[in-house]
Amino acid sequence: MRAVAVYPTQLEVRVIDHPEPKLTSPTQARMRILDVGVCGTDRDIVSFEYGTPPDGYDYLIIGHESLGELVEVGAQVSNVKVGDLVIMTVRRPCPHPDCVACREGRQDFCYTGDYTERGIKQNHGYMTEFVVEEERYLNPVPRDLRDVAVLVEPLTIAEKSLEQLWMVQRRLPWDRPHRAVVLGAGPVGILGAMALKVEGFEVSVYSRSQNHEEKNRLLDSIGIPYIAAETHSTEDMAKTVGPIDVVYEATGASSVAFDVLKHLGPNAVFVFTGVPGRNGPIPVDTDEIMRNMVLNNQLVLGSVNAPPQAFQSAIQHLGAFAQRWPDALRSVITARFPLEHALDALQTQTGGVKNVVAIAS
Ligand SMILES: [Zn+2]
Ligand SMILES: [Zn+2]
Repeated sequence: MRAVAVYPTQLEVRVIDHPEPKLTSPTQARMRILDVGVCGTDRDIVSFEYGTPPDGYDYLIIGHESLGELVEVGAQVSNVKVGDLVIMTVRRPCPHPDCVACREGRQDFCYTGDYTERGIKQNHGYMTEFVVEEERYLNPVPRDLRDVAVLVEPLTIAEKSLEQLWMVQRRLPWDRPHRAVVLGAGPVGILGAMALKVEGFEVSVYSRSQNHEEKNRLLDSIGIPYIAAETHSTEDMAKTVGPIDVVYEATGASSVAFDVLKHLGPNAVFVFTGVPGRNGPIPVDTDEIMRNMVLNNQLVLGSVNAPPQAFQSAIQHLGAFAQRWPDALRSVITARFPLEHALDALQTQTGGVKNVVAIAS
């Protein structure tokens, strides 16, 4: 079968022929891959910044944002059946018996770092025609979300953040309206903004973008103000928005993030989800940040990867978005490329919106 593979030592990316996988245990299922989303992680992998082939291979099949359709199930598979649409999780547990996180099925909190990730780290990904996986890593998705279901995985970043946010904010024993600022208007930022809005937050998006009008129109159609970073300083933004309860960072730009950190409101939480490249040190007023954090009971939280419950929440939220904002949701996916043109999907920067490799229909 065809697959998109990166050869890190040869610095090559190409469509290859890879053996079709077969069931090796009665708890597995075989999926035909329909859609695979492309994100910054994939672009970093095909630029050879990271991405590690599985043991015994000189290549890694890329792709971690999946949508598959079940074509075969093992005898012990009980919660899904042939014909179901599923989203597969990405991270697989480390082998160490004393890693309590992985042993609890929470490899998103792995202590050792020896986990694998499909399409990223020592485990082949989904940008291919067929995949075999254990049932416990499959998340069924309703057929009426077929067109947008590939957005589930990027939405899980916000879902895990929200789960963590609710847990840490139990330290405040009251209910009040929350004001959230999302940094970044790429797919992760837009989907996060939608999730926060559905959860009742008053949301604004602050971003630097090449296509302001498009982003502005999309966010405006769902009632979220867009504040352009080129024309508004972080101080202006904070004044416009009012006291910020939550910042959901989805850019990986540390200088902007630390600038916004200074304008966090009382008892607020700042959630980092972006992974910046190493761009060298920048000056930061650490006294001001530390003083604010103490005097305002603030929290900074990093969040990575997502557990199965975040996939469930993402599927539910995606259903809610599809009902409330069908056009806006569909417009997050800007282009679909056939597998033979997957390299174009990886190389074309369509202004931070989502390219999808459509492998089957
Ligand atoms: Zn991704
Ligand atoms: Zn572990």
